Amino acid sequence: MSIYVTKPLMPDYQEYIEEIRCLFESGMLTNYGRLHERFRRKLKTYLGVDGIELCTNGHLALELALQTLGLAGTGGEVITTPFTFVSTVHAIARNGLTPVFCDIREDTMTLDAEKLESLITDKTVAIMPVHVYGSVCDVERISEIAERHQLKVIYDAAHAFGVEYQGKSILQYGDASVLSFHATKCFNTIEGGAAVFPSRRDAQKFRRMCNYGIVSEEEIQEIGGNAKMDEFRAAMGLCNLRGVDAAIEKRREITAWYDKRLQGIPGLTLRHAQEEVSQNYTYYILRIDPAVFGVTRDDVCRELKTYGVYARKYFYPALNEIPAYEQLGRQYPTPAAHRAAKEIVTLPLHDGMNEEHVAMICSCILNLAAAAERKAV
Ligand SMILES: *Cc1c(COP(=O)(O)O)cnc(C)c1O
Repeated sequence: MSIYVTKPLMPDYQEYIEEIRCLFESGMLTNYGRLHERFRRKLKTYLGVDGIELCTNGHLALELALQTLGLAGTGGEVITTPFTFVSTVHAIARNGLTPVFCDIREDTMTLDAEKLESLITDKTVAIMPVHVYGSVCDVERISEIAERHQLKVIYDAAHAFGVEYQGKSILQYGDASVLSFHATKCFNTIEGGAAVFPSRRDAQKFRRMCNYGIVSEEEIQEIGGNAKMDEFRAAMGLCNLRGVDAAIEKRREITAWYDKRLQGIPGLTLRHAQEEVSQNYTYYILRIDPAVFGVTRDDVCRELKTYGVYARKYFYPALNEIPAYEQLGRQYPTPAAHRAAKEIVTLPLHDGMNEEHVAMICSCILNLAAAAERKAV
């Protein structure tokens, strides 16, 4: 038996077939069809935002958000975090911008707003923080700094589907927030993504940028690409939206099973609970301090694998340690991010798991430490 870190949210087969039946009748497969627009409206209501634009995936939504806000190709600097999925930093670099790495907070592992200001230069054009694992960035402090220095803020909210702060959607902050609907995320459209802009004009431009800058049959406004979401994926979105609350509830239950067994153990740090933040329970993160726990994160991953448990090192390596960004990494040391990258593990969490699976995974981790301790004495 194998237990993977996640399992895609999927609707009932028949439900999906019903949803796509109309496409075989209409022959309208893409280009903002009926399902696209219905899905967009339902999503907007579900997330509690004033508007949302769909995209073919989260990565291109990040790139197109940079282009929509007029930042791409300016050669400016964008301050971001090295503790994220590689997409965030690639989106910056691929648009002729230079990523500048800001260290992270020890507790939430989001960009450390206290270290932000010292990295701002006359070349800085934007900040791209990440709500990593669905933990919320210091949105007020970041807004205040960005305003004072007239910088754009684009949140990578790929992990923050449905997350609320003070009872409101986290997607309302900054100049743009970008979601991913990749199969492995909290909510999926197989591949997919979306962007939320507080400005209606920006939202409309983003929508055009996803479709070659086309306004109408005879008018093309800007140099856009093709990043549309097709009808089959919109259908998947409509179906999965009906099941997402139940999936989140199930993951909340599994999270509690893990917490019960792992909290209070010296050397193990569980997710930092944030006040007034709702979670989507997509990632079960565990931080292992080898000096106290007696074994390293890598030891734990190796041991779990022998039991068919595929935990993941999200996020390792820190992105300023990979060849493409190493040079920049030296310029901006980020010790907290490097420590986190060495100590963090994401344990399996999906609705195919029961309490016995969780008990087995936790015993495996705790027994490994106990064995190491016996060997040490
Ligand atoms: C998944 C992810 C992305 C990219 O989204 P895709 O839909 O896979 O293109 C960007 N940033 C972060 C933090 C992610 O986890």
